[in-house]
Amino acid sequence: MPHYKIAIVGAGPAGYFTAQALQSAQNDELSFSIDMFERLPTMWGLVRSGVAPDHPKIKSVAKVFEKIASEPNFRLFGNVEVGRDLDIEELCPRYDAVVMCTGSSIGRTLGIPGEDLPGSLSAADFVPWYNGHPDYVNVEVPLDGDTAVIIGAGNVAMDCARMLGINPIELDPTDTAAHALSALHESKVRHVYIAGRRGPEHAAFTAPELRELPKLEHTNVVIDANAVHAAHERAAAAREIEKHLASNLEAWRLIAEHPHGGHERTMEFRFLSHPIEIRGNGKVEEVVFGVNEIKDGKVVDTGETYSIKTNLVISAIGYHSLPIKGISFRDGKVENDNGRVLGTNIYTVGWAKRGPSGVIGTNKSDASDVVKLLIEDLDPEPKNGGDISVVIPLAITIVDQSGWSKINAAEIAAGEALGKPRLKEVDVAKLISLAQ
Ligand code: NAP
Repeated sequence: MPHYKIAIVGAGPAGYFTAQALQSAQNDELSFSIDMFERLPTMWGLVRSGVAPDHPKIKSVAKVFEKIASEPNFRLFGNVEVGRDLDIEELCPRYDAVVMCTGSSIGRTLGIPGEDLPGSLSAADFVPWYNGHPDYVNVEVPLDGDTAVIIGAGNVAMDCARMLGINPIELDPTDTAAHALSALHESKVRHVYIAGRRGPEHAAFTAPELRELPKLEHTNVVIDANAVHAAHERAAAAREIEKHLASNLEAWRLIAEHPHGGHERTMEFRFLSHPIEIRGNGKVEEVVFGVNEIKDGKVVDTGETYSIKTNLVISAIGYHSLPIKGISFRDGKVENDNGRVLGTNIYTVGWAKRGPSGVIGTNKSDASDVVKLLIEDLDPEPKNGGDISVVIPLAITIVDQSGWSKINAAEIAAGEALGKPRLKEVDVAKLISLAQ
């Protein structure tokens, strides 16, 4: 029975679902050894460092990941960075296939003046800051002003807005990183604007995220009822109202009609607003928006402007991949054809393959599709290219599955005492010592 060796690079949802698809494809005539490489000593990718801490149910998929990792054909090489500690050229000859599941970690930029001022951040920095990603612990998040502005109308923008707009006592029983939680407790921010450049009918938020807004216990959620009505009229006139949009429009109506609770904190949606400039003397002081309108179904600039005084602007307008040595990237993704990197034994799954779209579960079908192609492409004879362990520099402390289990258990135990699901360790050296 041929036995193939597969390397998966990246221990996020795309990586684990690729491993699962390989495990499920095994039969009497085909089997796999799976080696997963992850640059951090911690696993689960966006489930750990992306998903908002106040959405703990979404993180329960980590149990599935750990089940996949407990299979005997799975080996973990954590704290090993492909492109730095190991080259792609060293992986490819040793594996029958290499699957890049490295996601998209760099925030897209607005390309407007003032974007580089201190106080102007990308969600790609803010989200891992509050989630305790070791590389983002020192991100400067000015929380001493009363107003914050989030640019973008997708679920990441919504996560950022909730993290700034809810009462931090709601985050106490979550796994928000300790440094971020204490900063949020000190935060003076009381008004969070979320600005979308099109109308509410074209917002990328999904209905479950909208429907939870009126349930927030300590935050007023504001959208102009006229804006919701106009969005409905425009969508109906354009005969655009399919199921997903109908659900979103209904959620908007409920938000608009929900009585404000007179809370100290407010989240306010502003639509048809495109950012033109971020102004300030040495730091962010104001964001200037151009006002759009919709004419014949097209978004057009009216030429009018307005501005919001703030010292914190977070743009949540999408991501692109961080290039990796030895891999060709195009349009912010690994250059690929349906997941195949043509002319090589490299494949890609997840955001690195298709760009930053879809929920965690989307990676499951994506992985299954790519694994089918990978299996079609396998040579009848496995490579038997030798074990990778001999190539990993001795100076690297590999965090294997048992090491990661120790980190995981230590974090859960530390959190238990505080009534939290876990207390994240954010220092790489301490994480490595926990794994010993
Ligand atoms: P997204 O859903 O693609 O939303 C990006 C937003 O940025 C859109 O509203 C887009 O507006 C706007 N935008 C892009 N360029 C802009 C510019 N130059 N100026 C102003 N606005 C601009 O991306 P995301 O929020 O990063 O989310 C990525 C994926 O993760 C999505 O599939 C999302 O659903 C998923 N996610 C899910 C959850 C969850 O399930 N709870 C949580 C977080 C993320 P236009 O539409 O006008 O281009």
